[in-house]
Amino acid sequence: MSLPTKAKVVIIGGGIHGLSTAWKLSETYKNPGDIVVLEKKDTAAGASGIACGVVRNNYFQPAMRELMAHSVSVWESDPKAFKYNPVGYLQISPEVMHEDVASIYKQQKAIGYESTFIEGEKDCANYMKGIFDDWQAQGITSILHEKKGGYAFNKDSIKALENKSTSNGVQVMKGVKVTGFKRGSNSKAVTGVETDKGTIDCEQVVIGAGPWARDFWNMLELPKTANIKGKDGKMHVTDMWTYWMLQEGVIGVEPDFLKTNDGKQPPVVHVDSTAPLYSDKTKKLITDKIWGIYYKPDIEGLGVQGGTSPYIVKKHYKRI
Ligand SMILES: Cc1cc2nc3c(=O)[nH]c(=O)nc-3n(C[C@H](O)[C@H](O)[C@H](O)COP(=O)(O)OP(=O)(O)OC[C@H]3O[C@@H](n4cnc5c(N)ncnc54)[C@H](O)[C@@H]3O)c2cc1C
Repeated sequence: MSLPTKAKVVIIGGGIHGLSTAWKLSETYKNPGDIVVLEKKDTAAGASGIACGVVRNNYFQPAMRELMAHSVSVWESDPKAFKYNPVGYLQISPEVMHEDVASIYKQQKAIGYESTFIEGEKDCANYMKGIFDDWQAQGITSILHEKKGGYAFNKDSIKALENKSTSNGVQVMKGVKVTGFKRGSNSKAVTGVETDKGTIDCEQVVIGAGPWARDFWNMLELPKTANIKGKDGKMHVTDMWTYWMLQEGVIGVEPDFLKTNDGKQPPVVHVDSTAPLYSDKTKKLITDKIWGIYYKPDIEGLGVQGGTSPYIVKKHYKRI
């Protein structure tokens, strides 16, 4: 397929952001060729293809609450196509997180997002033993059990968004790298998108480039620093972009390993802990700082998937 010379909307990036935007906009822009998605590699080639796939409403920013509730309803609109598993989500926390998670629960309750909140070490242990009779975690003083949410097999979800978009007439162009923007002759307004395969004139551009957003920020010559008001009430000048590295892995386990007492698929289990973590092989202390693990079935079969706390990447790979 050759690159079109014009479109109403050009969307950059074939991840969950670009393709869900394409799908929803295709309900308004109905002519074939109105919407073009440009993806430098393949759909699901970026963060959307490697994400853990957990669908939850447990984010500390209050503004996220209703947005996440809405997003969960989109997953629920076609669970089969999205390979979405609505098993629910458990946030299991030590005392240092109690207050924050309690406020998330209150916000969920206020908007009618179904969840249960359990408090106190004894009640938390009993609640978890009611789900897994061999539950052992120590020092847990709160549990937020979201009854909605769960997990999705993310690569399949992205392909489903691609199919929903293309069947509404969206053109998804793969192997096309955006290199810059065309500007109006007398203004800085963007009037087109430049790529390694040619230029597309357009009325609107949506940037859904995930971790590559910095490249587009630079192409648009936007500021390199941001002014942020700190807890001290003072303004601080920071670099515009900070990258964090998050590592995850999957350990294979027997198919019945994580089933609940009544033999069902478990909710996504996310445990944070301040209890010292020892290696069961060497018995050495791994950390006495707060640590966390989460598990959910993996696409290859049941597996424990987990990650550590992210860390800041100090040295950037220079692209432009
Ligand atoms: C390890 C990990 C685990 C995660 N787990 C979860 C989770 O469990 N639940 C959750 O909700 N979120 C999770 N996230 C976050 C989530 O993956 C991202 O927020 C989300 O996928 C971002 O989607 P996106 O479409 O914005 O970006 P991406 O999926 O990265 O898509 C951007 C696309 O833009 C393309 N692109 C870049 N530059 C150009 C260019 N110049 N021209 C054309 N195309 C270009 C890229 O190839 C890429 O395909 C996780 C992230 C990571 C890294």
